[in-house]
Amino acid sequence: MYQELQQIIDSSRRIVFFGGAGVSTESGIPDFRSTDGLYNQQYAFPPETILSATFFRRHTEEFYRFYRDRMLPLEAKPNAAHHFLAELEKAGKLTAVITQNIDGLHQAAGSKNVLELHGSIHRNRCLKCARFFPPEIIRDSQGIPKCPCNGVIKPEVVLYEEGLDDDVLSAAVHHIRQADTMIIAGTSLTVYPAAGLVHYFRGQHLVLINRDATPMDEAATLVIRDSVGEVFSTLHCS
Ligand code: ZN
Repeated sequence: MYQELQQIIDSSRRIVFFGGAGVSTESGIPDFRSTDGLYNQQYAFPPETILSATFFRRHTEEFYRFYRDRMLPLEAKPNAAHHFLAELEKAGKLTAVITQNIDGLHQAAGSKNVLELHGSIHRNRCLKCARFFPPEIIRDSQGIPKCPCNGVIKPEVVLYEEGLDDDVLSAAVHHIRQADTMIIAGTSLTVYPAAGLVHYFRGQHLVLINRDATPMDEAATLVIRDSVGEVFSTLHCS
């Protein structure tokens, strides 16, 4: 069905994958930016406001109410896309997965080199003593999650107004520069600075898989308008 994509993958040796929220949709994780009537009844602010550094500082308890409710899908399982990418890496054809997602599903599928631009719900740190905690500590707590030292436990996810991690960014640039194929999936490429990374790509094949049009469609070798899990479930890792 996606023969051209299969051929590109077969002929590539250094694939880089860049994924957004659409990669996790089929694992049952909705884009946290999506709101509906129910959301508006439950929250007085849009998600982008709640997930900001200022809001975290000023309304910490409300931040955690939202975070527990919407950002901790700990029961979610990797889908066909996550599994296929892990296989490609194992076969030595993929050098890095760069993701805007914070759900850890690539690692759950077995991927090793995962560059998490926006951090991960699986890493949580005490702001006072720097001790690490698993995400369950936040899920199972009430109000503001506290360390035994009484410091606030904060997830290592990049909030609005916060910068991306320099090491993660430069590793992403490095892998994109070296890649012969870049597959971008499940993102509308509008979230900067992450979206700007695409411009470092100098390879042969730029593949875009997204339900809606993106600003990069014109520049792509191949554009597929379909859901990410659907596309990846038809591919095989030669
Ligand atoms: Zn502590």
